[in-house]
Amino acid sequence: MIIDVHTHINNYHEDRVVSLEDCLNNLTDTMLANNVDYSLVLSSYKVNEHRPSTRQVVEAIKGRKNLGVVSGISYLHYDHRDVREISEYLENGFIKGLKFYPGYEPFYPNDIRFKLMYEMAVEYDVPVMFHSGDTYAPNGKVKYSHPLHIDDLAVDYPDLKIVICHVGNPWIKDCMEVVYKNKNVYADISGLVLGNFSDKFERYMKNEIEEMITYAGDPNYLLYGTDWPISNMGSYLKFMNQLELAEEKKELILWKNAAKLFKIDVENL
Ligand SMILES: [Zn+2]
Repeated sequence: MIIDVHTHINNYHEDRVVSLEDCLNNLTDTMLANNVDYSLVLSSYKVNEHRPSTRQVVEAIKGRKNLGVVSGISYLHYDHRDVREISEYLENGFIKGLKFYPGYEPFYPNDIRFKLMYEMAVEYDVPVMFHSGDTYAPNGKVKYSHPLHIDDLAVDYPDLKIVICHVGNPWIKDCMEVVYKNKNVYADISGLVLGNFSDKFERYMKNEIEEMITYAGDPNYLLYGTDWPISNMGSYLKFMNQLELAEEKKELILWKNAAKLFKIDVENL
């Protein structure tokens, strides 16, 4: 069983418009080719012809049992309609989590402006995911996406389940401390490369992830994710296989932790 907790159906080649249906088919074909059983699709903080809204993604994946949605939320632009929609979708189980994009937008995770969102996440018991570490775009501001800021939020909201995306790369040591210290903090390993791992970078990251597990203990906080289509699924699975870990610990990362955290009905996949 494999669950990818971090994929997008944004079109990152903005020279042409690709339909939402084509993006979804591309995702499920790639999953099939790599034996991935279930993926979470994260919507963006931006909505335009290349980035579908949460509503569009929720509508588009209806009937596809192997996909779930995590709703991207904009710090700068959300309004009362978004709050109502998110609340409805949480109530109906149409979204499995919320995603925030510090770094891409200028705010720290414990910003008071998102208090209501965090309270909704606690009430409906869904995780909140945070972009963390490097920004894909040079106009991002990385002081906001440093994983250390997650600690404030984790302490202030002990019942909130938080995912640090990309293990805070390159601040993986800071991420491992925040994860180790706070029982309510998880991390996904997505987005560590654009495309495929080179041999050299794979060795480097293997070491970093193994070090994290050595420090923070059994990986019941670590989640498998790719950031597809930014990172390649096949290359990511090869990376996972190279980790020097007992099989049952790999299973925790590959699907068991995610199934529990996001309440994914793996029996019916
Ligand atoms: Zn991503």
